[in-house]
Amino acid sequence: VRRSDAPGRSPKYVARGDGFVAFGLCDSDDDLDEGEERRIDVAFTTNAEREGRTIARPATFPKRTRGALRFGRASRDLKLKAWSAALKKDLEAWRGSPKHGLGYRRGDGGDWFMGQGRAGNLEWDTAFGLAARFMDVGDPIDLFHAEAAVDHLLARDRDARSGLFFVHGAGHRTGRVEIGHHWTEGLRLVLETTDDPSLRLAVARVANDQADAFKACDLAAALPRSLGWGLLSLSALHPFATDKEASAAAIARFRARVASSATREGHLDLERFDPSPTAPFRVSPFVVGGIVLPAFVSTAAIPPTRDEAALARRVGRALLSDAYAIVEGRRVLRSSLFCDPARGRVVGSSGEATGEERLLFLAGLSTLGREFAPSQVELSAAEATRAAPSKVFLGKEISTTLRALASLADS
Ligand SMILES: [Zn+2]
Repeated sequence: VRRSDAPGRSPKYVARGDGFVAFGLCDSDDDLDEGEERRIDVAFTTNAEREGRTIARPATFPKRTRGALRFGRASRDLKLKAWSAALKKDLEAWRGSPKHGLGYRRGDGGDWFMGQGRAGNLEWDTAFGLAARFMDVGDPIDLFHAEAAVDHLLARDRDARSGLFFVHGAGHRTGRVEIGHHWTEGLRLVLETTDDPSLRLAVARVANDQADAFKACDLAAALPRSLGWGLLSLSALHPFATDKEASAAAIARFRARVASSATREGHLDLERFDPSPTAPFRVSPFVVGGIVLPAFVSTAAIPPTRDEAALARRVGRALLSDAYAIVEGRRVLRSSLFCDPARGRVVGSSGEATGEERLLFLAGLSTLGREFAPSQVELSAAEATRAAPSKVFLGKEISTTLRALASLADS
C-alpha cells in the first residue's frame, strides 16, 4: 500500500488485518460543505517502485460480518429485480434533493428529512441499509453515506445523558428518547466494514449505554417496535459491550417479555389501548413480523433456544394466516389486527400496510426459516403498492426497503 505524498490527500491511517486493509480517509470532525470535494489517494501495488491500481472498495465481504448481521446481494437476486430497480430510482431522487432527501448543510449532513424542517434522525436504520447496499453493489457512494449517517447519529442525534438516539423531529436534538427509535446495526456494519478505531470506541460506549438505559424501561408497557428495535440493538452490539453480563441480561429480559406475550393462537399480546382485561389487543403485522420476530431470533449475539425459535415460527404462521384480507377484490396486508385476549383469536382488522411495510413483513418472516420465504407473487404484490411513488420525502421508504432487500437476498 502506498499513500499519497500530497498534503491532505493521504488517508489518516492504514490498518492491515487478515485478508483486508482498512483506511480512515479523514477525521470524523472534518466538515465538507455542499459542492466541496476532497480527494484521497491510495495505491495498491505489487511493486513499490511502480504506480499501482487505485481501488475504491473491498473486493470481498469482511468475513466477520457474514452470518452475524444478515444481508445478501439483492441486486443479483432475480426475484428482487423489480424492487432493486425501484429502489435505485428512489435513491437517485433522494440524493439529488437536499430539501427532500439527504441533508447537506452543516448539522444536517448524514441525516434525511421526513417533512419540512423535520429531521428523520435516520430512523429504520438507514446507515445499516446503505452499508448493506455497499456490500451488495459496491458503489462507494453508499458507504460514504452510511459513514456520514453513523457520524451524524453519534455526533448530533445522540442524547449525552442516556446515550440513546433522539426521536425524529425539528432540529435533530428533540430531547425525546425511546427504545423504538434507537438503531445500532448500522453502527456495527460500518465499523466492521471500515474498522475505524475511533468508531470502535464509540460503538463500545453505545453498547454499554444502551444496556444500562434499557434497564430503566418498563417492558410490560413497551410498544412492540420498542421491544423489536431494542432487541436488535442489543444483539448487534453485544460483541462490543465491555459489560457482557449486563448486555446478556438485557437480551434475556427482552426475549422473555416477547415470549411471555404469546397467546394460544400465536399472536403477541403487546399492545393494548383499553385497560380492560377483556378488551381486544392490537397487533401490527408488519411491526411484529418485520421487526419483533427477526429481533427475537437474531443470531448476531446469543442465538435463540430451540423453544424460542419454535415460538417465533408459531407467531409467524399465525401472522401469515391472519394478516391478509381481501378488500375490494385485492389481497392486502392489514395494518392492524385486533385479537381477543383470552386465546388471541383475531376478532377484527383494519387498514392497509404500504408496499414497503409489506416488504419488511416478508423480509422479517423470511428470517424464521425456509417455509417463510416469500413467493414472487407476494413480492410483486408488495411492489405494486409501494408508497414511495406518491411521496416527496422518501427516507422511511428507502430505509425500510434497503434493510428488507438486504435481508431477503440472504434467505
Ligand atoms: Zn439527525
